[in-house]
Amino acid sequence: MMKYDLAIIGSGPGGYVAAIYASRRKLKTCVIEKDLVGGTCLNKGCIPTKSLLNSASIVSLIKGSSVHGIDVKDYTIDFAKMIARKDEVVLRLRAGIETLFRGNAVILIKGTAVISGPNTLKINGTEEISAKNIIIASGSVPAELPNIKFDGRDVLSSDDILNLRAIPASLAIIGGGVIGCEFAGLYNVLGSKVTVIEFTDRLVPTQSREISKKLELSLKRRGIDILTSTCAEAVVKRGAGLMISLSGRRSLETEKILVSVGRAPVTGHFSDLEALGIGTKKGKIIVDDYLRTEQKNIYAIGDCVDGPLLAHKASYDGIMAVDNILGKMKKSDYSNVPSCIWTEPQIASVGICEEEARAKNIEIKISKFPYLGSGKAYLLGKPEGYAKIISDRAGKILGIEVFGEGACDLIAEAVLAKTANVDVEAWSRVVHGHPTLSEIWQEAAHAFCGTPIHGL
Ligand SMILES: Cc1cc2nc3c(=O)[nH]c(=O)nc-3n(C[C@H](O)[C@H](O)[C@H](O)COP(=O)(O)OP(=O)(O)OC[C@H]3O[C@@H](n4cnc5c(N)ncnc54)[C@H](O)[C@@H]3O)c2cc1C
Repeated sequence: MMKYDLAIIGSGPGGYVAAIYASRRKLKTCVIEKDLVGGTCLNKGCIPTKSLLNSASIVSLIKGSSVHGIDVKDYTIDFAKMIARKDEVVLRLRAGIETLFRGNAVILIKGTAVISGPNTLKINGTEEISAKNIIIASGSVPAELPNIKFDGRDVLSSDDILNLRAIPASLAIIGGGVIGCEFAGLYNVLGSKVTVIEFTDRLVPTQSREISKKLELSLKRRGIDILTSTCAEAVVKRGAGLMISLSGRRSLETEKILVSVGRAPVTGHFSDLEALGIGTKKGKIIVDDYLRTEQKNIYAIGDCVDGPLLAHKASYDGIMAVDNILGKMKKSDYSNVPSCIWTEPQIASVGICEEEARAKNIEIKISKFPYLGSGKAYLLGKPEGYAKIISDRAGKILGIEVFGEGACDLIAEAVLAKTANVDVEAWSRVVHGHPTLSEIWQEAAHAFCGTPIHGL
């Protein structure tokens, strides 16, 4: 029987990062993966979606080029080529992880792992290995609606839609969360008639109401229909397309449907979790602040435990779990984990939002700067948006949100400021290059000090 210091189930951004980090710290490490190396993020999530969104952004550039005096008379979208490029990007990055595994002496075992004892795992029901420590990084899969099942052809999950071979004439998206809104933007640019159906009263409900409202306006302006407070009740085939029955006796005809109503943690197949005393809550593995399950040598990280469903959170967990295996005993803390949404414009945030702070009766100060006041945003032709710092009266940063061009990259500076406990007054004195979008932070911080330069 092969013996390891650490066996990791799953090679997504939680598992593969933990493996490399552990191996570099001299732990004899293996990763067991039943599907493609890289997990959801690389094969069905972050990377393929952002590759396609990047291609779509070129279409948007062409569509808006005439204001720059550049008239593109004719262009065509070769969707098959766009998909092939996305596949190539994924393939190369997957090969990169496999190279990193080899270079760092991480053993990759292809197969399905089941924990058979506190220190043993069975692969594909036969081969058994032993490990002093185990990290479960088994991730999540698309959640299904009981009344609207995926069929992989017309009613699609976020996995299925990445393999479409033609741009649908119309696409109804059930679920107006992050994944739904990103696909809405993508297919809108590619020419589909997109309708988003959202059960709650707003899009991206994990963000502030202000962001939800601004995003809804922006998507509507682009021609996307948004139906909030609406429930998709049933789907039937109608001719070559589909008919969705909606609450309020309404209906909608569409060629394809994307169901993006959340993610389900992958934990069910660990039939022996309970025998080991490892508990689950709403399907997620219960861990303590150190990411340990009830079995103190078995850790769980990423999408299969509580916390934001994000790749960088999974990687953060992975490093934390290995540090704790090495005896550092660090507590996980997600208050500085940013969330990034690749809509048009982009959205990014970290910490608490204004309404959350008010609900907690915290005395806050809001410092805001509109993109309209940014020379760089203006010359880019992207003056829509704002940056907002939520702080206490003394200037301690509690949360930050940015809605506008480049938000997903811009948030990095805000995360650093918040993590390093930079107070807002000190932030206002940080010199930023000009003309850059990063100046929005200095401007918002100046607003805190009552000395706005380019804002009112
Ligand atoms: C469409 C989409 C877009 C996204 N975009 C972003 C984004 O832009 N930014 C971001 O931060 N996040 C994004 N996410 C979320 C991100 O992909 C996940 O949060 C992240 O992949 C979770 O990492 P993980 O390591 O926990 O699990 P996963 O990446 O899900 O990996 C788990 C792995 O475990 C394997 N596995 C499971 N059970 C077993 C077993 N018993 N034996 C062996 N192997 C097993 C699975 O095959 C899988 O490869 C997106 C997700 C989707 C669906």
